[in-house]
Amino acid sequence: MSHEGIRITSKDQQARENEDSLPLPRIAITPEKVRVLLTEGKGLEIDWVDGHHSAWSFAWLREACPCATCIEERTQQDRKPGQPKAKPAAVLPMYTAPAKPASAHAVGRYALQFNWLDGHSAGIYSWEYLRRVCQCRECTFAADETTGTPN
Ligand SMILES: [Zn+2]
Ligand SMILES: [Zn+2]
Repeated sequence: MSHEGIRITSKDQQARENEDSLPLPRIAITPEKVRVLLTEGKGLEIDWVDGHHSAWSFAWLREACPCATCIEERTQQDRKPGQPKAKPAAVLPMYTAPAKPASAHAVGRYALQFNWLDGHSAGIYSWEYLRRVCQCRECTFAADETTGTPN
């Protein structure tokens, strides 16, 4: 049987053809509106075409950087996307400015890229990735339900 219904536009998504258990219909990963609240320093907000709404703080997004280096680092430290590094019990707490991008721009029609003030810019935040890590209560609850948390 051939694939009927929604036509997929991205090759990336075609590669995931076998992940039929994905709970989200594919149309959901198209944003209708993307707001990068740079001047406010708040974060990123996306209204999806299916009516879903997502929001992330810049600090969260920085810790969820999807580049290979950051993924490897998180894997080694057993951190989930968005989970900050464990702070060493420092005697003198050092002030670290919360992560903020100097700029952000679209990558084709499928992703966003941030130029973080710390100089990092390797991460390509695809709509698909962002939707998967949506931090709204509904999605975080659903994620806990399906994957279970090890601790
Ligand atoms: Zn990175
Ligand atoms: Zn959500």
